[in-house]
Amino acid sequence: MKLTEIDLHKELKKYFGFNKFKGLQEDVVTSIISGNNTFVIMPTGGGKSLCYQLPALVLEGVAIVVSPLIALMKNQVDAMRSLSSEAGIAHVLNSSLTKTEVTQVKKDITSGLTKLLYVAPESLTKEEYVAFLKGVPLSFVAIDEAHCISEWGHDFRPEYRNLRSIIQQLGDVPVIGLTATATPKVQEDILKNLDMTDANTFKASFNRPNLYYEIRPKTKNVESDIIRFIRQHKGKSGVIYCLSRKKVEEIAQVLQVNGISAVPYHAGLDAKTRARHQDMFLMEDVDVVVATIAFGMGIDKPDVRFVIHHDIPKSLESYYQETGRAGRDGGEGHCLAYYAYKDIEKLEKFMSGKPVAEQEIGFALLQEVVAYAETSMSRRKFLLHYFGEEFDDETGEGADMDDNVRNPKKKIEAKEQVVPL
Ligand code: ADP
Ligand code: MG
Repeated sequence: MKLTEIDLHKELKKYFGFNKFKGLQEDVVTSIISGNNTFVIMPTGGGKSLCYQLPALVLEGVAIVVSPLIALMKNQVDAMRSLSSEAGIAHVLNSSLTKTEVTQVKKDITSGLTKLLYVAPESLTKEEYVAFLKGVPLSFVAIDEAHCISEWGHDFRPEYRNLRSIIQQLGDVPVIGLTATATPKVQEDILKNLDMTDANTFKASFNRPNLYYEIRPKTKNVESDIIRFIRQHKGKSGVIYCLSRKKVEEIAQVLQVNGISAVPYHAGLDAKTRARHQDMFLMEDVDVVVATIAFGMGIDKPDVRFVIHHDIPKSLESYYQETGRAGRDGGEGHCLAYYAYKDIEKLEKFMSGKPVAEQEIGFALLQEVVAYAETSMSRRKFLLHYFGEEFDDETGEGADMDDNVRNPKKKIEAKEQVVPL
């Protein structure tokens, strides 16, 4: 179908049941359907998937979607199947499939039934798959979580670096990159590595006006300070992030002893316990999860009222992602982080075993964290500037929602008049 023949709102309603597009979705969808390389930067929850799913459904051919996690791909395939009466509408191609399953996938693709084919980047390097896909009409290739291509991103995957050369083998297909990482450096890397500097770029605002940002100095009283804070937010849901599993266990215990319902969550717990603790939090059997960064991927509890960082994270992207789990419903979200330079040194020490190039990037990211923690300017302005976004700290949405703006640190000024000699 040509764009002029497509009623996008009708298709949106028909496939997804939504009445309107969210944010920039319509512009993005139009760009993709018109056959342009397209680059989409939207915060988590912004609705990036639909940006390629809808075009895939209305365009001729199969859309290849590259995604880094099998769990994410499976979720999406299930979601697409629930929208259609044909199970073959979407498939995953990866190493876990049996021969019979692969045959079925190929059959559905060849017959034109399949509109979306999800692949892990490492599967795309398999000669057999590439050879097969070369003979198939493709609508476009979408690269989800495209920041994985950049060493400056929070989740670098070397396999992503091979994507461009593979896509080139597949012929002249439009490429769509999508990410929630907003730093200009990562964006530049993505465009360069995917050889799509000509792409139509769509960037949504990363401002979260309902989040209150606060940094407190980390003293030896940090635990009692956290307890006081939680008591002031009695019955509300919150997440506390710690750097180590040991600290997670420790804090969870301290909270429990103090009558706060809390559970630990980290990768050292077995899968069953982790799932149980996560469910307890989602079902509101407990108020607080104390967690390492293992907690959060795909967690969508809308009414998380606070996110506390017991330890400062290793980059402002991590900080933004983690604090971003507060206030998804648009209600209050208090983001409190404890900061001590000692913790920065600890993070630096962790990196000392890594390759030099990686260390340099790690240090640079940490310096931004230090600057953010120590700034006396609007934290929102600082964060958004880091993401390449202008913010007016007087009139912008949420301008008064941080400690520095509410309680400006007194400028040191000469009090006495200088008397001319
Ligand atoms: P992202 O990948 O940007 O983090 P998702 O694609 O997972 O976001 O979408 C987040 C949520 O928004 C999903 O629950 C999705 O169903 C919903 N959503 C997407 N587009 C729309 C829309 N136009 N109207 C209402 N809800 C939408
Ligand atoms: Mg997504």
